[in-house]
This record gives sequence, structure tokens and C-alpha cells, in this order.
Amino acid sequence: MQSRIRVLGDNVINKIAAGEVIDRPASVVRELVDNSIDAGAKSIIVSIEAGGKNLIKISDDGHGMLRQDALLAFERHATSKINQAEDLETIATFGFRGEALAAISAVSQVKLATRSAECPIGTKVSISAGKIDSVEPCSMNVGTEIEIRNLFFNIPARKKFLRSDQSEEKHIRTWVLQSAIANFDVHYRILVNDREVLNLAPRSDLVARAREVVKGQLLPFDRRNGPFRVSGLVGHPSQARGTGQIDSLVIFVNRRLVKDKMVAKAVHEGFDSTLKSFEVPLGVISIEIPAIDVDINVHPQKSQVRFRAPQVVFLAVREAVKDAVQNFREPVRYADFRPLIKGGAEVREQFRFEMGQGSSGNLAVSSQAQLAFSDQDEQTAPLRYSELNYIGQVLECYLICELNKKMYVIDMHAAHERINFNRIRAGFDQKKLVSQRLLLPISVELGLEGLDNCLKHKEALERVGFEIEAFGESTLLIRSLPSILKNGRVEELLRELATIEFEGLGAGRWQERVDKISARIACHSSVRSGDRLGREEVMDLFRQMDSADFAAACPHGRPVIVSFEASEIEEWFGRDR
Ligand code: ADP
Ligand code: MG
Repeated sequence: MQSRIRVLGDNVINKIAAGEVIDRPASVVRELVDNSIDAGAKSIIVSIEAGGKNLIKISDDGHGMLRQDALLAFERHATSKINQAEDLETIATFGFRGEALAAISAVSQVKLATRSAECPIGTKVSISAGKIDSVEPCSMNVGTEIEIRNLFFNIPARKKFLRSDQSEEKHIRTWVLQSAIANFDVHYRILVNDREVLNLAPRSDLVARAREVVKGQLLPFDRRNGPFRVSGLVGHPSQARGTGQIDSLVIFVNRRLVKDKMVAKAVHEGFDSTLKSFEVPLGVISIEIPAIDVDINVHPQKSQVRFRAPQVVFLAVREAVKDAVQNFREPVRYADFRPLIKGGAEVREQFRFEMGQGSSGNLAVSSQAQLAFSDQDEQTAPLRYSELNYIGQVLECYLICELNKKMYVIDMHAAHERINFNRIRAGFDQKKLVSQRLLLPISVELGLEGLDNCLKHKEALERVGFEIEAFGESTLLIRSLPSILKNGRVEELLRELATIEFEGLGAGRWQERVDKISARIACHSSVRSGDRLGREEVMDLFRQMDSADFAAACPHGRPVIVSFEASEIEEWFGRDR
């Protein structure tokens, strides 16, 4: 009888591998750009046609290859980057699996031209569906140029799943921009249908490059501990978005772009009480860690890592981000905020990593001035509320101020809520909130379930100064209150507290419970829309805001202060023309 099991031929194996490594034009670009950087390139040009479906061409000025290496490079598991298994523990290059070129050439038509400095002439190789068609000498500068045509021409099923040209192009551009942030010292250019759409000159550090390509209000941070470093930028909390849009948070581990839920969670915790639980903030997080402490051989696309000491990384990221966000005092700029108001996530999304070039813009011929964000690089002194000229209260809830040719609008409830929240939470931790005993206890009818739920967090409530007990089956009796609540709406607050679901919050999530309770109490003890504030009260609020941590947003993640440039207001009236 004939055996049923067969060892697959290289051609099939490569197609299978191609399925894992290469799933769209952007993954080809990713592999090839990574190769260029691994080859020490200081200048990379990415040219594409039809979203990369017809053509992807990458030229670099890296160290190039000798003739024999240029041929070997397309073999499966052919790499110059590792030799033996132990090398896997100390990988310093992006590539190491030796399968990208084999996979790409199995599913496209490839032309490679390359020259090493050791050799006066270069080599040109043509390959189609994994078979070498021709090899010939050529004259060229040191470096490599690789051309991929008709991607997936021999896998119609995969080809069908590709999106529109624009959509594939956008993936490529996003990826190149992200890669450019980490490899800030490399000159990147993108050409679409022979037209230059991006030109990023080398920069001296990640922060400078990130400011160039990420739109938004960003605050840099940098924390080092021996060979371990967490640095980058975080966006203003109001620039966070709902889940499913995680592209706004970019994470690098040793310059490699990765997706890492644990790091993302640490960043979220670092934003503390300025984000909603489902929001993903804008940020660029760069983790530098000795290669031995991180395993990158986890995923075929090398987009996931495993840390040897995840808890150490988690805490370092959380604390670094927290330090930055805690001191984020800049008002939200109306110009940045506007897209959010008008069109929500979709509109804002285009601004993220498309900054500077825009969807139709041509960076090369538009001026450099448009690239940099108006006052992004200016080191302005942090805003002090108490220095603002207070004009008055409008529309029940907003305080209008003016300073240095800017107008500021402050949500007085949000500001007060932030101050009260910080105070309540600190009191929680230090068990120092002042309690006030009521002459007559207040009773609140909560229903069976409501009462039950409220009593579940009796301990937490007592810590902030409540004294409560059940009265009958469904009524709660309140004997003492936190003094901060003296003018608050106690009944409404308790009804709200009775509906917070704490079931899912185990012992380890105490902070989340404290934050939830503190936010509710803060809300009910703060000035409300319609309350009239005297000038002294406003000044008092401003002084407290000047020293408040996490002052950029209220504990529900809403902004506290928005700034308008004089020029923006002039625009409303056509005075700019
Ligand atoms: P890997 O990057 O994992 O080693 P690849 O299939 O991507 O595998 O590349 C195979 C080899 O080809 C690399 O190890 C490298 O020696 C060589 N190579 C690929 N691209 C370039 C380039 N742009 N410049 C110089 N050498 C390259
Ligand atoms: Mg590679």
C-alpha cells in the first residue's frame, strides 16, 4: 500500500509560511524595511503602486549583499542574523527567522539588485513564484533595491481578501510612520505612484521624530534604571479613543513595534482617573530592555514579545506614564479638539499617524512649516489657573478667562470634581476624611437589591466618613456623612452607589472600587451647572487647580479646560482674510 503521508515540497511549504508572515502589502513593506534597517541603512525609500498590490519597491543604502548571499537569501531559513539556538536569546536585529524573502518570493515576482561594499559590482536576481529566473551582474551603489510585483498573483484566495488600494496604502503609510518613530535616525521617504508623499529627515531622538508624525498634544517622559529604559510621549487624556482603535497607542520594545496587552494596561493605569475604562490613550511607549530579558520568538510576524519579568515592566511603564499624566496641565487646544466634536473617532483617526501629510497632501511640495504643529515644539510655561484673567460665568457652567491672546473656557463642575475626587481618594488612603454626624438621620428607600448592594461596600463607605445601617428590608439609614458632602444631594448619591456593580471587582481591584466610589461622591459634592460662583470662589477653585494632580481631566475622563487662539476666533468673523 502507498503511504498517505508525504513531506511537502518547498514550494508548498513556502506558500504556507507566506500565509503566516505575509498577509497584506503592509506586511511585505514591514519585512523589507526591517531588513533595510538590519542592514544598517540610514536612508530608505518605499515606493508603492495600487496600495502595494501592483508594486512595492524598497531602496536602501545599507551594507548590501554579495552575489552568493543574494541567492541564498531567498532560501527558507536562510539568515545572516543568527547562527545557533543560543543566539535566539540575544537578538538585536528585527529579523532572525530567515523566512521573509522566501515567503514573499513564493507569492510574487521579485527583482533584487544589491551590492556589498566588498565588491565593485552588484548582482541582479529575478525570481517568480519562488523560482530563480535570472542572475546577472549590474553596476550600482552600495545598498539594496528590491521590487515586489503582483503580490499573491498565484494565491487568488488571498488576493481576494485585500482591501481597496487606498486602504492598503493607508496600512503601509501607518506602518512606515510607526517604524520611523522608533528608527528616528533613519531618513524615510514614501512615494505613491511616483509622487513623494512623505519625507522624514533623520532626527536625534524618538521624541523629536514622534512629534513630527503624531498629531496631538503630547507630553514626553523618560525613565531609566540601569540598562532598562521607558520613554516616549503620552497624549492629552481628552485625545483617547474607544477600544478597537488601538492604533493610537504605539508600543516599541527595543525599537520593534509590538502589540502587548500588558503594556497597554500599564499605560491605561498610568493615566489614572483621567480615562474612561474602555478608552485607549494616544501615546508612544518605547521600552529598552536587555535582549536577554525579552523573548521575541513568539509570533511569526514578530509582533508579540514575552518579558522575563513582566511585573517589573508593568510597574515601570505605569509609573513613567503616571508621572507624565499627573502633571499634564496644558488646556485642550480647540484646534485639536474640533475633529472630535464634529465627527468622532473616524475623523480623528485620520489625524493620528497621517499627520503632516494628510490624505491628499503632498509633504514634499507643501512647506515644512505645515508639518510641524503650530506651537508643538515651543516650550511654554505650564498654565497657571490663578494667573488667568477671569471674565465671568456663562451658560450656567462655564468660566471664561483670557490671557496672552488666548481665550480659555473652563468647565467649573469638572474642575471642582477633579479637586474633590483627589481629596476624597487621598482621604480614603490615609483614612482622614472628616465626617459629620447628622442631627436627624436620613433614610433612603433603595429596594431590596439596592440596599443589599450598598451594604456590600459598607467598609469602603465607612472609610470615607459614612455611617450607615439597614433599616428594615429595603431602607438605608445614614447617621453620618463625609463633610465634603454637606451641600450635596445625599439621596441621589446613595441611589447611584446602590447601582454600582461591584460583583466583578475582586479584592485585587480595591483601587478601582475606591475610584468609582470617590468619583460619585466627588460629583455630588461639587458645584453644579446653574450654581452662581462669586469671584472669590472662582479664585479659590483656580488656586486649587494649580496644585491638583491629573488636572487635565475630570474623574470621568472629560477635559477641564479648552483654549482658543485669537486667530481661531478671528476666523469665525472672517478677520483672517
Ligand atoms: P531574516 O531577516 O530573518 O534574516 P529575510 O528572509 O528577511 O530573513 O532575509 C534573509 C537575509 O537576506 C538576511 O538575513 C540578510 O542577510 C539578507 N538581506 C535581506 N534584505 C537585505 C537588505 N536590504 N540588505 C542587506 N541584506 C539583506
Ligand atoms: Mg527579514
